[in-house]
Amino acid sequence: MRYLSTRGDRTPRGFSDILLEGLAPDGGLYLPTHYPQVDAVLLSRWRSLPYAELAFEILSLYIDDIPAADLQRLCRATYTEAVFGTPQIVPLKRLEDGPRPLYLQALSNGPTLAFKDMAMQLLGHLFEYELARRGEELNILGATSGDTGSAAEYAMRGKRGVRVFMLSPHGRMSPFQQAQMFSLQDANIHNIAVAGVFDDCQDIVKAVSNDLAFKRQYRIGTVNSINWARLLAQVVYYFAGYFQATKSNTERVSFAVPSGNFGNVCAGHVARMMGLPIAQLVVATNENDVLDEFFRTGTYRPRGTAETHETSSPSMDISKASNFERFVFDLLGRDGARVKQLFGETLQREGGFTLTPEEFKRIAGYGFVSGRSTHADRLATIRHTWQAQQTLVDTHTADGLKVAAAYRAAGQPGVPMVVLETALPVKFAATIEEALGFRPEPPAALAGLEALPKRFVVVDTDATAVKQYIEAHCAA
Ligand SMILES: *Cc1c(COP(=O)(O)O)cnc(C)c1O
Repeated sequence: MRYLSTRGDRTPRGFSDILLEGLAPDGGLYLPTHYPQVDAVLLSRWRSLPYAELAFEILSLYIDDIPAADLQRLCRATYTEAVFGTPQIVPLKRLEDGPRPLYLQALSNGPTLAFKDMAMQLLGHLFEYELARRGEELNILGATSGDTGSAAEYAMRGKRGVRVFMLSPHGRMSPFQQAQMFSLQDANIHNIAVAGVFDDCQDIVKAVSNDLAFKRQYRIGTVNSINWARLLAQVVYYFAGYFQATKSNTERVSFAVPSGNFGNVCAGHVARMMGLPIAQLVVATNENDVLDEFFRTGTYRPRGTAETHETSSPSMDISKASNFERFVFDLLGRDGARVKQLFGETLQREGGFTLTPEEFKRIAGYGFVSGRSTHADRLATIRHTWQAQQTLVDTHTADGLKVAAAYRAAGQPGVPMVVLETALPVKFAATIEEALGFRPEPPAALAGLEALPKRFVVVDTDATAVKQYIEAHCAA
């Protein structure tokens, strides 16, 4: 399989070439030249596979520059009961029966209790493998306000050839999130608490990355959500969810996805393009409804940071959806010149763009629908799911359930609705308490986490200070 850029650069690249890269040189995102097709025979063969083997089968369709035996070993090392808590890895729970059953698909039983572990854990193994093969090292520099940073640290801890330098706003993460990251004692993990807010952290990452000489000398890389390998890893659980919700490959399933950067639901789009019988992909947003606006109107208008609301589903508080360009590329018939015009020019110049009516009409053919959810919806959904279905859900998953409800009610009989659970409630305990009057218990393995010794440094809001820290810790 070869990869191309959404903005028209067709220089053929292999999976290993793009694995450690971010954006394509023309500013676009990488996508495979085509989506391998799965037919009924293949689906039947995959239906009974354990998760790690299913992952290996799907990844093999997109990766031909890692020997099959190695890829299989990496998949088996990643998707284990020890790491993900259950032998099914992503078990479905039935919340409601009826002609349109409602399911919750658990994606949050990995080490950091959010779905980001599903992809990041694999990325840790892939990075270690590829860096060893090249005899190279990589220093991952990132900024986090919570989920991504901890998922990256737990994926990369103890991995050879990789160091992680993770910036976070000092004193602004939840105590649980802070404890998760700062309690790591691995020598290759560096927690840098910046005396500022999240945007300051991001500005520092940008400033360091823009110093090309420094970036090259210290081999600075990222693990952000535009990485194709992350997206690919997420495709697997749509297949796993489909197999659990159906008995035969003639049935269709809809998925509802709490969305921010559009990485999770974009993986659903890829699965559907491969031929997985998905009826609808329901994009659920919170008050930051850039994506909902687009799917309703055809206008994409990213917000500035000042216009971005701080909500009780904070991992969906995004101003622009960084993976969204991938879907638009497919929607527009893979016309790289048109995508370049929209994202590289109109968006920069006018702060947004609007599809033509003809382009907008095509969305229906891709199964996408959308909706938004508010703080009050979140509280009501958490209460209803607890009282009527004896299930405790987190705030992001509640947004998914809320938006799914209307589409489920209006959907075709016989089509189950699977809502993706993107985090466990303990991560957002304050809102659970607001809804229900009690705080959720952490899983046994994480009890006492907040009392563990913490390992972090505090630095000023200053890119030079961060560079000096990186220099000092790469020399060692
Ligand atoms: C990252 C995240 C999301 C948003 O996922 P995207 O892939 O960015 O759309 C939703 N919920 C939780 C808990 C997350 O951590």
